[in-house]
Amino acid sequence: MTTKKKCHGKCGLEKDLEEFAINRANSDGHEYKCKVCFKGIRADRKKAKSMRAEDGNNAAPARTKNPKAPIPSRIDRAIHLDEQLLKAVKKSVAGEIIRIIEEAFA
Ligand SMILES: [Zn+2]
Repeated sequence: MTTKKKCHGKCGLEKDLEEFAINRANSDGHEYKCKVCFKGIRADRKKAKSMRAEDGNNAAPARTKNPKAPIPSRIDRAIHLDEQLLKAVKKSVAGEIIRIIEEAFA
């Protein structure tokens, strides 16, 4: 014997309970929408998302904004890394000097 349940989604049909996904939070242990209606919701959301992406005004990734911008070469990145490391070294050296001075006069 199969229990029937009315779908509260788009279809509104009375379906077998196994057509509804399990959801223990609900009183009857199943979703109030059938699996088909749940899929429909997901598909709609996906569609809306991809439409927004195609629109592209707000969500455009940085790379596509300026396709002519050169991709930094390994050397460029290495130089940048050098600068960052140098900054970090200077900072920590300065921190160390301050710490020594503070200790000396404490
Ligand atoms: Zn349904």
